[in-house]
Amino acid sequence: MDGVQQEVDVVVIGGGPAGAVCAADLARRGRRVTVFEREHHPRFHLGESLLPGSVDVLDAIGVLPEVRARFQTKRGARFVDGADERRAARYVFAEAYHARFDHAFQVPRDEFDEILFRRAAALGAETREGWEVTRVLFHAGRATGVAARAGDGRMETLLARYVVDASGRDAVIPRKQGPVERIPHLDRTALFAQVRGAWRDTGEREGDIQIVLFGSGADRGWFWLIPFSDGRSSAGAVVSSAWMRGRAGMGPEALFDAAVAQAPVVGRMLGGSQRLFAPRATADFSFRVGSMRGDGWLAIGDASGFLDPLFSTGAHVAMAGGLRAAKALDEALAAGQDDAARFEAWEREMRSGTNLFLGAVQAFYAGDLTDHLFADPQHPFLRRAITSLLAGDVFDRSPPWRRELATRFPVIKDAG
Ligand SMILES: Cc1cc2nc3c(=O)[nH]c(=O)nc-3n(C[C@H](O)[C@H](O)[C@H](O)COP(=O)(O)OP(=O)(O)OC[C@H]3O[C@@H](n4cnc5c(N)ncnc54)[C@H](O)[C@@H]3O)c2cc1C
Repeated sequence: MDGVQQEVDVVVIGGGPAGAVCAADLARRGRRVTVFEREHHPRFHLGESLLPGSVDVLDAIGVLPEVRARFQTKRGARFVDGADERRAARYVFAEAYHARFDHAFQVPRDEFDEILFRRAAALGAETREGWEVTRVLFHAGRATGVAARAGDGRMETLLARYVVDASGRDAVIPRKQGPVERIPHLDRTALFAQVRGAWRDTGEREGDIQIVLFGSGADRGWFWLIPFSDGRSSAGAVVSSAWMRGRAGMGPEALFDAAVAQAPVVGRMLGGSQRLFAPRATADFSFRVGSMRGDGWLAIGDASGFLDPLFSTGAHVAMAGGLRAAKALDEALAAGQDDAARFEAWEREMRSGTNLFLGAVQAFYAGDLTDHLFADPQHPFLRRAITSLLAGDVFDRSPPWRRELATRFPVIKDAG
């Protein structure tokens, strides 16, 4: 039977980084907000390498000291040719143009997401775990609330002035509005595991993410190696659909091993390490949505589209977008009426930031970004521009480096 209907300012679907940050900031601003999370924290999730651009967000919601105390500091990103380790380039965040923070963190997401979610509750959000939103309510074209089901089958309806879709790649509202768009050149599969005892660099480089490239042309792939503070590392490969087609019938573990065999550098990095679970696979993760907002609703984080994880951008877009959405929602609630321009500006800012990442990722797979990454000598301006991109400094400003990257690596719109 349906539970009693109440009304809150904002109901959030999903308690990952986007939803938790948005709810935490709305609660901090004194808004009544409820988050429904289908699972129970802590729960496993991919996306463990953060960007310096997110450190501001962690600071804003008051979790930075705890995050700093618990997780591995990350000061840079190193790109390596999988066949020849001498071909490598390290980008140090301290060299970014606006290096407000010269570091980020490598975070096992079960622990990290739980910190964000509990923080939202501590700031006054109502947080419900084990509750799945089964339906978004619309009245005269406007989102007015949600229906949710608890693990024991209880149903509840909650009315809200705004619904925030932070449901990750489920993208509950955008997928209801129509099919999401696949992005040219980004039909990829990831094969991933966690290991203990893998190689890691030392000193201030210890927390670097290692991005190891292998193959070429349509078969180009790459590995990530992300070191955690407790000796574990996240290891994964992103491969093309052409690469997968050539290995039809193989399971995730055999595919992971086949990718390692193609990148001897990764074989050495993982040599002697112990797998903490057998490699798993996730496919076809990149997509774009037609609209990130509608009457009474906004979609944030992966629910508003997802980009290949080459530059570790997902959690940053999720958290920065969640924080900015909270501010726009708070202002709209204070104004007491919908202000389309407010959300229009928010969507424009989000899209222009993610498009900068998108153009660069497409240039990596289909263009000449790799040559720029490894160029030696490298033009100092381009080096700092790439470093600023890798630091996640893509929102708010329009400095010259940003225009340069957008011109060099425009978003590819064709289906080729
Ligand atoms: C292979 C791979 C590697 C990646 N590596 C990185 C990386 O290194 N760095 C990085 O920043 N990002 C990375 N990402 C991206 C990152 O995982 C996501 O961008 C990030 O988790 C997005 O956060 P979110 O809050 O939007 O969504 P999520 O973290 O997915 O959270 C959404 C939440 O909503 C809940 N939910 C869904 N539907 C419902 C419902 N109907 N009712 C209630 N709850 C619901 C889910 O249970 C989930 O907890 C990677 C992604 C992939 C696929």
